[in-house]
Amino acid sequence: MAKYEVVVGIEVHAELLTETKIFCGCPAKFGGEPNTHVCPVCLGLPGALPVLNERVLEFAIRAGVALNGHIAERSKFDRKNYFYPDLPKGYQISQYDQPIMERGWIDISTSEGSKRIGVHRLHMEEDAGKLVHQGAAGLAGATHSLVDLNRAGVPLVEIVSEPEISSPEEARRYVEELRNILVTIGVTDGKMEEGSLRCDVNLSLRPFGQSELGTKTEVKNLNSFRAVQKACEYEIQRQTELLDAGAKVSQESRLWNEERGVTMLMRSKEEAHDYRYFPDPDLVPLAVSRDVVESIRKQLPELPAERRARYTEGVGLPAYDAGVLTDNLELALYFDRAIEGSGNPKAIANWLMGDVAAILNREGKGIGELAMRPEQLRKLVELIDADVISGKIAKAVLGEMLTTGQDAERIVADRGLSQLTNEDELRVVIRGILEQNPSQVADYRAGKTKVVGFLVGQAMKATGGRAKPDMLNRLMTSELAD
Ligand SMILES: [Zn+2]
Repeated sequence: MAKYEVVVGIEVHAELLTETKIFCGCPAKFGGEPNTHVCPVCLGLPGALPVLNERVLEFAIRAGVALNGHIAERSKFDRKNYFYPDLPKGYQISQYDQPIMERGWIDISTSEGSKRIGVHRLHMEEDAGKLVHQGAAGLAGATHSLVDLNRAGVPLVEIVSEPEISSPEEARRYVEELRNILVTIGVTDGKMEEGSLRCDVNLSLRPFGQSELGTKTEVKNLNSFRAVQKACEYEIQRQTELLDAGAKVSQESRLWNEERGVTMLMRSKEEAHDYRYFPDPDLVPLAVSRDVVESIRKQLPELPAERRARYTEGVGLPAYDAGVLTDNLELALYFDRAIEGSGNPKAIANWLMGDVAAILNREGKGIGELAMRPEQLRKLVELIDADVISGKIAKAVLGEMLTTGQDAERIVADRGLSQLTNEDELRVVIRGILEQNPSQVADYRAGKTKVVGFLVGQAMKATGGRAKPDMLNRLMTSELAD
């Protein structure tokens, strides 16, 4: 029985999928030759003035309403002052006390059931540039560092949860669901490996029953779901050992070391007042009308929770399938097209989650790169259901469809794969097998009925796997009885 209650809050930074940066017209695209996506504004040159990209505001509102939050009618930008070489202005433009959204929530499902996690706030801000350390893998041991400001001024939303997450699993599920929502509404690509979605996890422990929070640590820049869960597990263990030994947890920022599976001290944690926030005098306050918010709300696509409900209640899938399909937007959109007019959506889900997923995993591809179109998968399932091909043959047909993009019917016709369902033809095959295997037939008639499996196998082989299995079994038993 655990002694301490785990309290986790998560900050997620998501890069927005706008064409241009938040306060200038430079491309916001990832990558590029260093320092080619820059101008006087994002370089922080004296006298350059920022102008808000309207699309950033629209995306922030879209994210805010998708997270069930309250969009502020009055909002503003503030300067967060700190010095670091990747921040040319010496401050980051962010939102401090009047964020664009507050009081949202999302529902997550865990092995313990469903849980609602509060979203404290969402605000807009600009990203910083990137330091590229030379002569070593990281800052430690580097001889010098290069500055790339292509990312400086790329728009971000920061989404801060309430400290209502109570386990490493909930932490991972929260980030997964949040990413899923943001990708579904098209505001971010959610590519954690490219850093377009990054998480900071705040974690503290307190004895059960104690109302005041324990001292928290912040683990910064986690860039995978697994890292979120593992870092929580590690921090729980580390803090438990400290508290058990009568020591204090110190408030600090830590880094996750993926190879060693540990968190390491980065620096003692800053307080908000260290940043000397003040309103940015170069940017006017924002006034957002209710009409704008409502029109953005009306244009929201189907959200993951709604999709899961449609899959379970409407399509009739088990909750597990609905979860797997919904967790991957591309897969869900593919599934939606594949089941149009289908009488067997469960079979389509099985193929997608089974054979198709296995092949995609093996080849490291996304479903969008498949040669097979959704309606072709639907047709494959129809051929199985109509007894034209067996499930086993279908696997071979699928493999060919995935590489050639040909229709299942075409492959079946060209290669003569349709199922043998003609009794007379099958009896001829069976009789041939019985003639070739007289000793097994004698064994069978002497009571060793298990040999029937061998004989059926031989007959199936003789048909190239095309015999309908239950029919073959039945006919074999009947021929052996004669
Ligand atoms: Zn610029």
